[in-house]
Amino acid sequence: MYWREVVASLYAWDLVDEGLEHMLDVLERETLTNSVYLVALMHDEKRPLTDFYYPHNPRRKVYWTEDSRAYWKPNPDSYKHSRIKPRLSDNEELQGHDWLQELIDGGRKRGMTTGAELSHTWLDKERAVGEFQDVVQRDIYGKRFDQQICFNNPDVRTYGIALYTDLAAHYDIDYVMTCVRGFNPGRPTSPSNVPFASNELQRLVGITLGGCFCDACERAAKKRGLDWGAIKERLRWMADGYDRFNARQAFDLNLLFHSVQTATALLAEVPELYQFLKFRTDSITEFFGEIYAAVHKAKPSIDVRLNHYAGFPELMGLDMKGVGQFMDSVRSSDYSEQSGDPARMEWKRGYLHAVRHAIGVDKYFLSAISPRPKATPELVKQGILISAQCGADALTIGHYDGSWMNCLRAIKEGLEEAGVEIRRG
Ligand SMILES: [Zn+2]
Repeated sequence: MYWREVVASLYAWDLVDEGLEHMLDVLERETLTNSVYLVALMHDEKRPLTDFYYPHNPRRKVYWTEDSRAYWKPNPDSYKHSRIKPRLSDNEELQGHDWLQELIDGGRKRGMTTGAELSHTWLDKERAVGEFQDVVQRDIYGKRFDQQICFNNPDVRTYGIALYTDLAAHYDIDYVMTCVRGFNPGRPTSPSNVPFASNELQRLVGITLGGCFCDACERAAKKRGLDWGAIKERLRWMADGYDRFNARQAFDLNLLFHSVQTATALLAEVPELYQFLKFRTDSITEFFGEIYAAVHKAKPSIDVRLNHYAGFPELMGLDMKGVGQFMDSVRSSDYSEQSGDPARMEWKRGYLHAVRHAIGVDKYFLSAISPRPKATPELVKQGILISAQCGADALTIGHYDGSWMNCLRAIKEGLEEAGVEIRRG
């Protein structure tokens, strides 16, 4: 079997701490990496994410990332029609460099393909509660969700298109990828102990506490011919049930959660709930359709890639089949290896099957494995074998910064043992 690529991700501060050449040496030697991308717009997070301390960073034990900063040099022309501009780093060590360009230069010298990722959040919390609070999603009561931007807001769409086209037009990259958070999922589980209600039923009802009910969504829904008032009224009744002082609604919800009713039955009973779900997925699909057209216009050869990370994508309004038609490739972001639990590997198999089911057998599909704690070399190899068995076309590593060497080494061995050869073309 042939896979085209082994793909590794790096962060700007990894380049400062470890040096690009050293990291590419290790990745080529231990994992056969032949493609590298920068997490070019990174959300607020502690690195390494899944362990207390870095396993091989020579300069620090941990790094707290800045909130939603860009690590390339945004071209002002790309944002001249956009109210929202990418925010740059305030970290003196990171300022004044074009980290994406440095990564591209280093990767290209070795014949690697290169890319850029726009991660989970594209707008920092500070500006989201300040000058851009009007673009943030709202719940059914009108309350804003921290920094979650609404994809029905025209300013968000303009900003998203500007980010993609800036990267595609001004950098020598083969792919641009995102794992941006979609609509707020609400409350996926019920706070009380309910004997029969399935997790699925609880997740479904919990969406009524999610996003989005902003003015832009109302306009978009009406444009689609939906009775937004009726949808809101029916969903509001369910949402109100989560507050026990709303006696009637809470009684109704409690009864539902203590019943044997299924999610399917609820959707049949409450067509407004289905309309809301469909409205959210149609909105996200339309948004990615606009991105796809604009970015291919800027650079016809670009690979627009979805970094698919959600266990239940439908909760954030992501319909894989709908969005998949506007993606050239999909990266599964399943990191089951790092659970340390062999039983979890069957979830990985099912997750990969779900993606393939949605995108079809011909689309370029990259499967991730995690070499991070509590992963073991055995689980890493198993992850590679399962990826091969599930029809993956390439492997990606999530992520180098937190990887222990024994697990990195297992990647090359795992590829050999699964009979996978890395070969372009
Ligand atoms: Zn909205």
